[in-house]
Amino acid sequence: MPKEEVIDYVDGIRSLLVEIADWMHKNPELAFKEIEASRRLAEELEKSGFDVTRGAAGMETAIVAHHPSTSKGPTIAILAEYDALPEIGHACGHNLIAASALGAALAVASVKERIPGRLVFLGTPAEEDIGGKIAMVEAGIFDNIDAAMMFHPSAGYTLVGRKGLALTEVKIEFHGKAAHASASPEKGINALDAVIQTFNGINAMRQHIQSSARIHGIIDHGGVKPNIVPEFAAASFYVRAEDDHYCSKLVDKVRKCAEGAALATGATLSFKIIEPSYKSRLMNKYMGEAFVKNLEAIGEPLIPIPEGSGAGSSDIGNVSQVVPAIHPYISICDNDIAGHSQEFEKAASSERGHQAMISAAKALALTAIDLLTDSNLMDRVRKEFEDATSRTR
Ligand SMILES: [Zn+2]
Ligand SMILES: [Zn+2]
Repeated sequence: MPKEEVIDYVDGIRSLLVEIADWMHKNPELAFKEIEASRRLAEELEKSGFDVTRGAAGMETAIVAHHPSTSKGPTIAILAEYDALPEIGHACGHNLIAASALGAALAVASVKERIPGRLVFLGTPAEEDIGGKIAMVEAGIFDNIDAAMMFHPSAGYTLVGRKGLALTEVKIEFHGKAAHASASPEKGINALDAVIQTFNGINAMRQHIQSSARIHGIIDHGGVKPNIVPEFAAASFYVRAEDDHYCSKLVDKVRKCAEGAALATGATLSFKIIEPSYKSRLMNKYMGEAFVKNLEAIGEPLIPIPEGSGAGSSDIGNVSQVVPAIHPYISICDNDIAGHSQEFEKAASSERGHQAMISAAKALALTAIDLLTDSNLMDRVRKEFEDATSRTR
């Protein structure tokens, strides 16, 4: 049976997958600079007969790899991320994502001659930067794909249904007028005060927004010297919400706060939305159920997320709005550890991290086989996706 065979296959290549995950961990590469990681993945896929294209969607480190065995049926994509974070390396565990996706793709490939449809491995760069998946969606790479899936390591929870927030980045600049801050302050217009007023306006607004929404910012430029009235000041904000429409409403409210600050101080405002925005995440219920069943079948226990936990944003949101998708999590450490921390980085090369990566490779491969071989399941997946996307329109 193909399902037992893929479990054995992943166990058989365990040491290769662990070696690749640890090698990436020791050699972290930042967004769009994942040269060695993407090369290694591409080479392993080529060795197993995949037809590999590098440099997809205008990104040098993107990979599109088709398995040559094709027949009538759905096209299933397994997604890999491999970018690290500045200074703290693989503190999001994308090395484990890459190794699990490779393991799943090779395992399905090992039985692909005997099952219908098509299998694609997609290497998606720069999740931590501007989101390579967004460029891949825009380049039409998902146009012929019926379902997409990947795994992400987590701190203390194993599940499929976690939300991802829509995210829009805005940059705010104020131009005022320099003057001696003590001898002639009345001749100046203080751009830093306009930034501070913007923060105050946003902080006052916080009480009246949906509790799952997030607005958080930094001051990029706040003047040059205390004895000069700042003539230029700038800030950046991330605005996040559970749904895309509410996120754009919040961006308008942030704009109003900045306009109010400009009016109050006399500074001139420039308000920029940085494209592209990360979209909110849809989780395909039937793909999720299949993944959970497969996790249970391989003995990986589900662990619920603690009540009141916050959520981040990912470019898988943009993918999930064009094709049915899942982005399940498997725990690699305890819940008191934060993502993007040094402790999480350690967990990404620990025994527990390796085990989660192996479980993910198996469950992804098994779910891909379910989707390729069970046309009733694929019909339910498509119907659920159509219903969900017509609701969000
Ligand atoms: Zn991540
Ligand atoms: Zn991250």
